[in-house]
Amino acid sequence: MTIVTGPGSPGKGFSANLKHVGRIYLDHHATTPVDPAVLAAMLPYFTERFGNPSGRSHAFAAEAHRAVEEARARLAALIGAQPEDLVFTSGATEADNLALRGTARSLASRGKHVVTSVLEHPAVLEPGRTLEREGFAVTRVEVDAEGIVDPEDVRKSLRPDTVLVSLMAANNEIGTLQPVGEVGALCRERGIVFHTDAVQAVGRVPVSTDAWSADLMSLSAHKMYGPKGIGALYVRRGRRPPLRLPPQMEGGGQERGLRSGTLNVPGIVGFGEAARRTAEALAGGEADRIRSLRDRFLASLRAQIDGVLVNGALERRLPGNLNVSIDGISAETLLLSLGDDIALSSGAACAEAGGKGSHVLRALGLSDARVYSAIRVGIGRYNTEGEIDEAARRLAHAVVAARGSSAHLRT
Ligand SMILES: *Cc1c(COP(=O)(O)O)cnc(C)c1O
Repeated sequence: MTIVTGPGSPGKGFSANLKHVGRIYLDHHATTPVDPAVLAAMLPYFTERFGNPSGRSHAFAAEAHRAVEEARARLAALIGAQPEDLVFTSGATEADNLALRGTARSLASRGKHVVTSVLEHPAVLEPGRTLEREGFAVTRVEVDAEGIVDPEDVRKSLRPDTVLVSLMAANNEIGTLQPVGEVGALCRERGIVFHTDAVQAVGRVPVSTDAWSADLMSLSAHKMYGPKGIGALYVRRGRRPPLRLPPQMEGGGQERGLRSGTLNVPGIVGFGEAARRTAEALAGGEADRIRSLRDRFLASLRAQIDGVLVNGALERRLPGNLNVSIDGISAETLLLSLGDDIALSSGAACAEAGGKGSHVLRALGLSDARVYSAIRVGIGRYNTEGEIDEAARRLAHAVVAARGSSAHLRT
């Protein structure tokens, strides 16, 4: 089959050049393809505009510097921030590490308690464990059966020595949207630093540093149709008392000393263009289009097979996310039987080392059977109705085959 490009696409040339024609990509929480406009914006910065933006003594440096600052402004506009509040990093993992380790260490003399949630990405969970080894206490707030944190639980977990709360805006497995506005307000009231990993939310739902009272926010380009290996940490500079994060990377003092190292200029330019394209796509109704594809996929699956159970709240989730357990099947086996043509992810694949299955699905209190039969679907910018129908049809057939000859497709 051929890929018909969606309304956000720049034209026929895009699909014609794709090596993956014939395959259907439904794993947009793992990563997204680079938007062709993003790639076009980046290319000159590998070749003729290759200057190092740190030096300002010649035109090469100056044009690279201008490009970086333009990208910074575009990204800031997308999240309602000031450009000078953004620090470019190698990705969201580095941003999360800088936020957690930096904040906790800089405020250790005030208190050694950190609050986060059981749903967080490993890039937040692991630095939390490191902080515990360094003598911090970390409370991981539980979620309800729908996969949503209750702000009241966060409030109850706060102590006089709490210095930091970190809560993700949207989960990368079940897509649930967390009450970051309420939790941010709670932290603001008590003078506690509030960090949110907004990687999955940015570009998919409206994001606002002010509406969420966020002091720190982690972002990643490759989850929003930008390149891999570039991210950013928003650091609210106007905060009183000010945040003084110790850098994780020391050297030439780039990014106001918070992140030394020669800037990844093509990556940053791509990140800026991805932000511009994303703002445009959001304004153009991309979220509604993607949500309707998601709903179509679920309806189609349910029309063809029994025992499709949605994991996590269906309403309060990212428009392109679906996480379903399919009764009586092993997700791993099912995905293997689908072959290379459809890219989906299983609950087990999202797991941390140890093979216990997804810590997120576990946190919902789901049974082993339900965790191991879970499939994550991530729909994105270039998916079409044709692809959605085809993927649901093939998945349903694979389920019927896996359930054995006694089961039949519904008619
Ligand atoms: C992908 C992801 C990260 C890590 O981002 P990288 O830029 O790949 O390091 C962090 N948090 C969440 C929620 C993610 O989905």
